[in-house]
Amino acid sequence: MLNEAWKRRLIHIAHSGTGKKFHLKTRMEYPKTVLGQKIHQSKTMSHSFPWLHKIKGSVLKKEILAPYTSIQIGGPADVLIFPEDVRDLQTILRNKGPQPLFILGEGTNLLIGDRGIRGVVVSLERFRNIKRPLFFRKETGRRRAVMTAEAGVKMSYLAKHATRYSLTGVEHLVGIPGSLGGAVIMNAGAEGADIGQVIRSVTCVTLDGEVQTFNRGDLSFEYRKTIFPNDTGIIIAAELELEEGNRQEIQNAIDRHLARRSQTQPLTIPNAGSIFKNPDGDKAGRLIESLGLKGFSVGDAGISIKHANFIVNKGGATAADVTRLIEHVQKEVKEKTGVALQTEIVTAGE
Ligand SMILES: Cc1cc2nc3c(=O)[nH]c(=O)nc-3n(C[C@H](O)[C@H](O)[C@H](O)COP(=O)(O)OP(=O)(O)OC[C@H]3O[C@@H](n4cnc5c(N)ncnc54)[C@H](O)[C@@H]3O)c2cc1C
Repeated sequence: MLNEAWKRRLIHIAHSGTGKKFHLKTRMEYPKTVLGQKIHQSKTMSHSFPWLHKIKGSVLKKEILAPYTSIQIGGPADVLIFPEDVRDLQTILRNKGPQPLFILGEGTNLLIGDRGIRGVVVSLERFRNIKRPLFFRKETGRRRAVMTAEAGVKMSYLAKHATRYSLTGVEHLVGIPGSLGGAVIMNAGAEGADIGQVIRSVTCVTLDGEVQTFNRGDLSFEYRKTIFPNDTGIIIAAELELEEGNRQEIQNAIDRHLARRSQTQPLTIPNAGSIFKNPDGDKAGRLIESLGLKGFSVGDAGISIKHANFIVNKGGATAADVTRLIEHVQKEVKEKTGVALQTEIVTAGE
């Protein structure tokens, strides 16, 4: 199941850090009567997806998506597919017709609606290969290496793999709990650096089913956004160019980043990372905190006490709760400071 390691980590920290047990729901514990499940049952007849038998990977129908997200919110997908390989992806893209398509990474920057996602949801959980880095030397400077990884590789694993080969460039991304595909789409970053700085190429299956590689020069990397020359399609792999460094120094930096995160972020409670982008020259968290909104809640969704730019799910939060809380914060911040906060999290579904 997706996010298992991440959930185990959350549970571990929850149990060891606070002494208070926080129960994370498993897929089995979600009621079968979720609103979207009932309403959309009739619309998801198998005749909508007559091509599903061609898929070699797994196919789940009406699967509740909450357990596939770090904030543990979201209704059912009409169809959730775990493709086995690129050919499966091509089968999906060439046969899905007008059905909408959504790509699920590790679900760590995602708010899925309570009624779930219509159409086809694709997870690249099985795209987890990472190659041994290929070293080369430029005329000047240290040795460099190209590391190729599939889109489903977790960022934490990617950083560990780079460290094993004494490669520097991704250690600041080590605590970002998502997949490489999600990190590329979001141009994930921390400590003033982002993944775009080390991307050499990105390979996608385009919406018409062709495999296409975009070189660095074809892409532009903005704050929490990578811009592709045409529709992204599905990212299947990326090449990163890293520099050789000192393994102990890299490991020390990783330890520092992880320690700082556990001090400053609410890792013990389900959340979806930063809710808002930082406005120019300021921090969204600072603005929200300055208005005394830490702890403010709508239903079971609350502004984290630890970091005001995080919304936590205190147990039974719905997407509707989170959305109302987001709107409340945006309204308060706009009225009191004049700043229009833009969301960083991706919303999907109904
Ligand atoms: C505790 C915590 C801390 C965080 N800290 C940071 C941080 O410091 N910096 C930061 O930038 N982010 C941070 N995040 C947010 C999140 O981890 C990143 O945005 C991450 O890169 C999202 O990756 P994901 O695989 O979870 O993508 P998802 O959340 O599953 O998806 C995000 C978007 O990417 C798309 N997508 C995913 N995979 C693919 C693919 N293969 N092809 C095409 N589209 C795809 C999805 O459709 C969606 O639009 C944090 C989140 C949490 C929970």
